[in-house]
Amino acid sequence: MAAHQEKKPSEERNHRSMQNDTRTAQVQWGRAWEVDWFSLASILFLLLFAPFIVYYFIMSCDQYQCSLIDPLIDLFTGNKHLSDIWNKTPTLTYRAAGIYTLWVAFQVFLYVFIPDFCHKFLPGYVGGVQEGAVTPAGAVNKYEINGLQAWMITHVLWFANAYYFHWFSPTIIFDNWIPLLWCSNVLGYAVSTFAMIKSYFFPTSAKDCKFTGNFFYDYMMGIEFNPRIGKWFDFKLFFNGRPGIVAWTLINLSYAAKQQELYGQVTNSMILVNVLQGIYVLDFFWNEAWYLKTIDICHDHFGWYLGWGDCVWLPYLYTLQGLYLVYHPVQLCTANATGILLLGLIGYYIFRMTNHQKDLFRRTNGNCKIWGKKPEYIECSYMSVDGTKYYSKLMTSGFWGWARHFNYTGDLMGSLAYCLTCGFEHILPYFYIVYMTILLTHRCIRDEHRCFSKYGKDWKRYTAAVPYRLIPGIF
Ligand code: NDP
Repeated sequence: MAAHQEKKPSEERNHRSMQNDTRTAQVQWGRAWEVDWFSLASILFLLLFAPFIVYYFIMSCDQYQCSLIDPLIDLFTGNKHLSDIWNKTPTLTYRAAGIYTLWVAFQVFLYVFIPDFCHKFLPGYVGGVQEGAVTPAGAVNKYEINGLQAWMITHVLWFANAYYFHWFSPTIIFDNWIPLLWCSNVLGYAVSTFAMIKSYFFPTSAKDCKFTGNFFYDYMMGIEFNPRIGKWFDFKLFFNGRPGIVAWTLINLSYAAKQQELYGQVTNSMILVNVLQGIYVLDFFWNEAWYLKTIDICHDHFGWYLGWGDCVWLPYLYTLQGLYLVYHPVQLCTANATGILLLGLIGYYIFRMTNHQKDLFRRTNGNCKIWGKKPEYIECSYMSVDGTKYYSKLMTSGFWGWARHFNYTGDLMGSLAYCLTCGFEHILPYFYIVYMTILLTHRCIRDEHRCFSKYGKDWKRYTAAVPYRLIPGIF
């Protein structure tokens, strides 16, 4: 548990929590998201259409050179029928099923059986057994942080194969991309369905389950907060981090290898995508312990949104730029390449520094320096379901004084940089920035809803002190 949070006797607090509505709402933080018609409509839309959206994007590249418009024109003009497109789509193969099973089994093995050794020799790296945040039920889970090690072992093996062993071609991922899509869907649906059944029959922590009574909402947003098998296999940490994010950099490497095979060279745009997204992925693993304190782990329950999303949506749609560049190899002029690199690096700097400032502030309970000065903050309190009161602080200086989610702003700048590497011939590579803008804006709203129900009037004082969300003076 974070050092700055203290407990007080619960009887006295229970009494007080009954006294006004804000307090009652505070007791419900992490549980109180009501299923209004808009949430339900969005959920049904995503459950029905998200798998088709992924299919449509990947099929457009496979059959239409990444044009999102041409398949529609073909269908509307009667030039082609849906069945023509479907019949041309590669089916599930034994080879893809074998590759995928091996891949996931290998990541499970690295996650469960190889305790972290990186923290023993990498200065500044926080790995090994770490604690997560306090859950709404007041529990604190322990996690084995060994993602960096899993990423390194996987990539060393990848390069060893590419340059020395030659067991398989480095283009293997691109060459099996659609058959692998079917496999990842199977896993995504299987794990989400299993998580739902598990939450009814053998939940890891019954007190941290959220039943809304709406089947679709529960399936999508999850019931169990931290489903686990055994002591250490944590669904959220595993599926969020691996196999999707470890695969992200391998997928990009496979695209680069395909460019090399097809055109005899790797373009600078492909190198930029590999480098910028590689930094983002490495950052994730370097800061995996910090990640335990982010919304994915401390707020979201584990359902289809995370289970299917991490298996399918993330590896397939976050890597569209590299896929596009296989079909359209763009060689950027030096000025454009430098500009994009700078945008990506500045975005990354803002993203990392903003996250770092909050992490440092919370870890030291405000006893640190932000931009050379003692941080300013607002004191706040909240309660867990058992009525225990905790204290926390919301920083109002550094990047957190500029906007309430300036880390998202940096993330969006980086996302735009990835897209710009692809030039302006097609809209497909720009899906990522559109998606991230929607995701992170929605996340601002979701997070603020949660923080308000957690901190009540203290959150209002904070939003008065820091009035903007993403762009100071504008939004
Ligand atoms: P944050 O890291 O911004 O965490 C939000 C939480 O931080 C709040 O719920 C609150 O939690 C605490 N907090 C809010 N304001 C303050 C403050 N002023 N001082 C101290 N603590 C505060 O959000 P996320 O977890 O969403 O994102 C983490 C990173 O991951 C971001 O940089 C984001 O861009 C990135 N991201 C990337 C995604 C991708 O798909 N590429 C998807 C989602 C996120 P508490 O209850 O502890 O007070």
